[in-house]
Amino acid sequence: MKAVVYRGPHDIRLEEVPEPVIQAAEDALVQVTTTSICGSDLHVLHGLVPNMKTGDIIGHEFTGVVRDVGPAVNRFKPGDRVVGPAAVWCGRCRACVAGLPSACERGGVFGHGPLFGGLDGAQAEYVRVPFADVTLQPIPAALADDQVLFAGDVLPTAYSAVAGLNPAVRGVQRGDTVVVFGAGPVGLCAVASARLFDPKRVIAVDVEPRRLALAGELGADTCVDASREDVRVVVEGITAGRGADYAVEAVGSQETLAGTVAVTAPGGVISVVGVFQRPAASNGPKMLAKNLVLCMGMGDLGHMAYMIGLIEAGRLDLRPMITHRMGLDEAPRAYGLFEQRADGAVKILLTP
Ligand code: NAD
Ligand code: ZN
Ligand code: ZN
Repeated sequence: MKAVVYRGPHDIRLEEVPEPVIQAAEDALVQVTTTSICGSDLHVLHGLVPNMKTGDIIGHEFTGVVRDVGPAVNRFKPGDRVVGPAAVWCGRCRACVAGLPSACERGGVFGHGPLFGGLDGAQAEYVRVPFADVTLQPIPAALADDQVLFAGDVLPTAYSAVAGLNPAVRGVQRGDTVVVFGAGPVGLCAVASARLFDPKRVIAVDVEPRRLALAGELGADTCVDASREDVRVVVEGITAGRGADYAVEAVGSQETLAGTVAVTAPGGVISVVGVFQRPAASNGPKMLAKNLVLCMGMGDLGHMAYMIGLIEAGRLDLRPMITHRMGLDEAPRAYGLFEQRADGAVKILLTP
């Protein structure tokens, strides 16, 4: 089969590789119908994922059709349309039972090499999915692949950021002023997800006007270009000097982390899902003075089924994020576009 493989930093190729086979009783073999490139794939592209081996298949966002199942899979049979998760979890270890599937003792992330479970990626014609009964979700007959594709990664991650990243931390509440830093796929999904909680207003912050326009389309009341305006001044102006109740960091930079501390009102919550490449400093004195809650974490893919239900009910539609549709064989060019954000690229779908 054809698959997108890592050959080394900045070297991604489409190659012919052996098809995967069922290895465990709870596996499913899925024929991929749509896959896409995620910001996290760029960490792979840049050689920043430790221990990635040359020849490892990349990719972790996919929909497909079940072609084969192991003997312990009960929810799915060949022919079922499914949306896959970015990472797998077993559903029964201590972490899973505690509601932290991202910390699963048997977990792994597709296409992130041996350090993250050694699972072959999904930018391929077929992918093997462990713990299929727990991790795959059926696609309702009325929905197209491109409507549910994001329900396996960026959407549940963003939803987690606004619903609360940890059981001890509150999510967005009715009447909150919410500021979302970053209008990439995760931030855009956070804007759309925040709307579900009936906030007073949602403010999106980015440095790219085209992405800010998308944030407006997905539900932001105010869009702030941080390269032109002082975000703190704008938020204070809108909130009569008080600041925001809830801030989401969906960039992973020192600057935006500092931005969340600056705009959040006393007693507010800062919810960080951006991935930092190196340790970041937080403004301790200011956080102390404002009694802020700072929570960081991985998104909870356990929200997948709920996300699909919201999409089916017409309450979430992330298709405006799709800027490009290409064939899997165009993956090297697609990675170039995505990395450079050329041609307005936000989400690029690849069809095998
Ligand atoms: P992205 O790179 O497309 O989005 C980041 C956005 O931040 C871009 O639109 C960029 O223009 C904007 N930005 C850059 N500097 C800025 C600044 N100073 N002020 C305001 N905006 C600025 O990435 P994405 O796919 O949306 O992902 C966002 C982050 O979430 C990444 O770090 C990614 O690795 C991470 N992520 C985390 C999880 C998790 O479980 N925690 C899951 C998926 C992705
Ligand atoms: Zn991802
Ligand atoms: Zn587990």
